[in-house]
Amino acid sequence: MRLDVVSIFPQYLEPLKLSLIGKAAEDGLLDLNVINLRDFTNDKHRKVDDTPYGGGAGMVMMPEPWGQALDSVNSDAEKRPVLIVPSPAGAVFNQQMAYDLAEEDQLVFACGRYEGIDERVIEYAQENFRVIPVSIGDYVLNGGEVAVMVMVEAIARLIPGVIGNPESLVEESHSDVLLEYPVYTKPASWRGREVPETLLGGNHHRVARHRRDEQIKRTAARRPDLIMKLDVDALNRRDRDA
Ligand code: SAM
Repeated sequence: MRLDVVSIFPQYLEPLKLSLIGKAAEDGLLDLNVINLRDFTNDKHRKVDDTPYGGGAGMVMMPEPWGQALDSVNSDAEKRPVLIVPSPAGAVFNQQMAYDLAEEDQLVFACGRYEGIDERVIEYAQENFRVIPVSIGDYVLNGGEVAVMVMVEAIARLIPGVIGNPESLVEESHSDVLLEYPVYTKPASWRGREVPETLLGGNHHRVARHRRDEQIKRTAARRPDLIMKLDVDALNRRDRDA
């Protein structure tokens, strides 16, 4: 997958070179390009922002550098690659979006700063991209870079080969309705706290049942909104077939 991130702070994206995402790039599974928006300015101050029409606080990112930067990263205008515009006014990012976006050949991310990007850039981009404004939650950040790191990490780990053991992706929180069960490692006893007996026994059926019960308890306690979506009949059917 090709990933292009346009930002005025390319250094912010450096952590993407670390750990599993960095290794995936080294292994050729990801082609990660960080592009400096200021490289598309034509004045000596490399200016990317100006005052808002209509007045008000703050500055707005100018259309000209954005237009040129986006033209430069579009690998195939006919295919209309996905352009993700991080914004607190976007649809809230979730695991299903990560699954869908992991299927794409190219993702472009446009990191806003200040009060955001001139709206005409977003309108214009729709001619050559499938534009998706995305929020990572109902709060306001200073810029899109941190949001992009969150999304890239969530998406890239779903690409085959990025995570060593693909089984790890199967029982995770948000892979279906239920959150993941609590996990434990050695020693079996630590500061007077014991690992649940069932997990030490080696009976796979009992372990699976125990974990499922813990998933339900945890989801009900922490995310009652999710437990309401649980398809109990499907769960019972799956348990009968196991
Ligand atoms: N004036 C904008 C508003 O009220 O919707 C907020 C602009 S914010 C200070 C600057 C940039 O940070 C945005 O253009 C966006 O790229 C990014 N940003 C802020 N909060 C975000 C969030 N919750 N999710 C994704 N991106 C966010």
